[in-house]
Amino acid sequence: MDTRFDFHIHTTYLRCANETMTIPAILAEGARLGVTRLGVTDHLNTLDKMPLHALIRRDLEATEPPMDVYLGVELNYLGRDGAFAFSPEVKETLGVQFAIGGIHATYLDSYDPRALIDVQHRHHLKTCQDPLVDVLVHPYWFSRGEFTRREWPWFDSIRAVPESYARELGQVARETGTAIEINACANLCCPNNPAGYVDEYADYLAAVAAEGCLFSVGSDAHDIRQLAEIQRAWDMVRRLGLGPERLWAPSGKPFRAATRP
Ligand SMILES: [Zn+2]
Ligand SMILES: [Zn+2]
Repeated sequence: MDTRFDFHIHTTYLRCANETMTIPAILAEGARLGVTRLGVTDHLNTLDKMPLHALIRRDLEATEPPMDVYLGVELNYLGRDGAFAFSPEVKETLGVQFAIGGIHATYLDSYDPRALIDVQHRHHLKTCQDPLVDVLVHPYWFSRGEFTRREWPWFDSIRAVPESYARELGQVARETGTAIEINACANLCCPNNPAGYVDEYADYLAAVAAEGCLFSVGSDAHDIRQLAEIQRAWDMVRRLGLGPERLWAPSGKPFRAATRP
């Protein structure tokens, strides 16, 4: 089984990714990289963004992709201990096959290294327990802007996360069938992280993996040049010794099946 997947990609339509991230460009670059299954997952923070997702769908419908293409969304919590803007009805209206989701802020009023991790961990478990979410995105990614603005010391070592948290996440993910994301741009090649961070992150992922859960790979590309970073996630899969049976992919038919010659 060829598991060169990428199930976390942004587009220009939601204005989070830049103008290079059009559907035709993403598919062409994905083909160049040898991606065999690809998922487009732009943000759905609030429901007023749904018309923009319809533009992604429209452009995908107009393609004959060289790989199986799935349509997804990336969900974000609306506040600390909040909810996702998602429901079975929204999923149906959007016509998406899967959802990835997670926490995108610290939700702290002041710097507290222990609370920083506890809040993330709590939201990780909550995400896994959400039956509408297939993949927990980028564990322990933080917004550099939030830290800089508040003059907090950067989160520069994942060794601060207790191994018991990694284990518990792996257990809950296994029990709920949620995949844990191996995210290239957010966690594996973030320029803000010190040398050695990826080795630490590999140890963290290995502790999660020891519990037997599934993993999803994603570039989280916001610029067409970042799609190539997916290879870092594929390298991590090899490094962790994860076989094809440990890699998640959406169930059911793709939104657009590969056009075979
Ligand atoms: Zn994200
Ligand atoms: Zn993302």
